Amino acid sequence: MYRFDRDALLLTPGPLTTSLRTKQAMLHDHGSWDSGFNGITAEVCKELLRIAQGQDTHVCVPLQGSGTFAVEAALGTLVPRQGKVLVPNNGAYCARIVKILHYLGRETVELVFPEDQQADPQSIAVALQRDPAITHVALVHCETGAGILNPLTDIADVVKAEGRRLIVDAMSSFGALEIDVQRLSIQALIAATGKCLEGVPGMGFVIAERQSLLDAQGNCHSLALDLCDQWQYLQKTGQWRFTPPTHVVAALREAIVQFHEEGGRSARLARYSANCDALVHGMTQLGIKPFLSESVQAPIIVTFHAPEHPEYAFKALYEHVRAQGFILYPGKLTQTETFRVGCIGAIDAHDMAKAVAAIGHSLRALQWLA
Ligand SMILES: *Cc1c(COP(=O)(O)O)cnc(C)c1O
Repeated sequence: MYRFDRDALLLTPGPLTTSLRTKQAMLHDHGSWDSGFNGITAEVCKELLRIAQGQDTHVCVPLQGSGTFAVEAALGTLVPRQGKVLVPNNGAYCARIVKILHYLGRETVELVFPEDQQADPQSIAVALQRDPAITHVALVHCETGAGILNPLTDIADVVKAEGRRLIVDAMSSFGALEIDVQRLSIQALIAATGKCLEGVPGMGFVIAERQSLLDAQGNCHSLALDLCDQWQYLQKTGQWRFTPPTHVVAALREAIVQFHEEGGRSARLARYSANCDALVHGMTQLGIKPFLSESVQAPIIVTFHAPEHPEYAFKALYEHVRAQGFILYPGKLTQTETFRVGCIGAIDAHDMAKAVAAIGHSLRALQWLA
């Protein structure tokens, strides 16, 4: 039995552990027509745009739902029906983009890379040169499946040089890793509340190039996911088109205040990097090895090889560690038996050290250590 009168720490990359202040911000009911709430929405959008460094060129369009809703909305709104999308694929979230594009009936070219290797800018350049019909590249910045970091800047340079447009799923990197949507000519960046901004889940947002969004009017197949319509209505009325996730927006505002108090993006990256270092160091000492090499590992989520024991089962490890107050995440690789540990959320390196101790304790109890 879990001994403490507090929530277990979520070592999962969304939902994740939030601060008490962020939770307390949800103890209010806001009306969707209320000017107070509309002010919160406007403030949040302005802050998100600033963090993306897109004030002069881009707009922020919030959208109800989990992150995938915003990915589908961005692709459905911005890729023309006759468009063709290149998807560098090195993991589960890249594969999800491919699946979305099939649903949307957009022509898709998959460029497959191994799950432990970064998407290669040079191969992307060659693929674009070979096929002038490709209009867009849809890139996952941090592939949360394995935790690998894709080289966004180099790929953005290639896409720009070849005269195509870039859409970035920055769900698990935005707020921690450096992204400048204007300098990188990113047509749309997609992220959500419940990741590195440390809000609660329930809302995605798209930082879209203003002109591209205006040009996309009438393109979207779906009313609920039409970002153009969502943005224009918000501009006109200050309100969301349909019932807004009021508590999620209020929590996000409070989370962003704390983001700035901490020292902004670079301070957040420093904390996550310290979390990641403490985690990898401690697990390596237990004999549990990271799946990725250090040079391609993003400090967001780490995939570990499962202990090589014939009776290993994630569920049992999960329950043992859960009883000590930490929530692990299953692996998402197709070939290898792994589990994952997130580095993000309102946690620090001391929490990570305790989590490692709990994992070590569990593995010893289960007699799974070599
Ligand atoms: C979390 C995440 C998403 C969105 O997943 P949801 O379950 O819909 O919130 C998309 N892409 C990446 C890279 C993610 O990490």
